Amino acid sequence: MDTKNNARFARGSGCYTCRICKHLTRSTGGDEAGCLLCGLCFDICGLENQASDHGDPDGKLAAEISTLKALVDARAAKKEAKS
Ligand SMILES: [Zn+2]
Repeated sequence: MDTKNNARFARGSGCYTCRICKHLTRSTGGDEAGCLLCGLCFDICGLENQASDHGDPDGKLAAEISTLKALVDARAAKKEAKS
């Protein structure tokens, strides 16, 4: 368990599993808990929406999305290694 991350979690909020990556997470007080997404997946969805609504001519959003997806994959791999 990464205790550094826990500091961001809102006190007393329930745990839930991210709908996309299945990461067990907790509300950090942002909007991501309302959609049952972890912070990373929530950010990815936001960027994907932005790209589909406004386009991504210079590929900046796509680059950011793949960076975030790599973080999700790395986190899943770390969890896999532990179990
Ligand atoms: Zn997630």
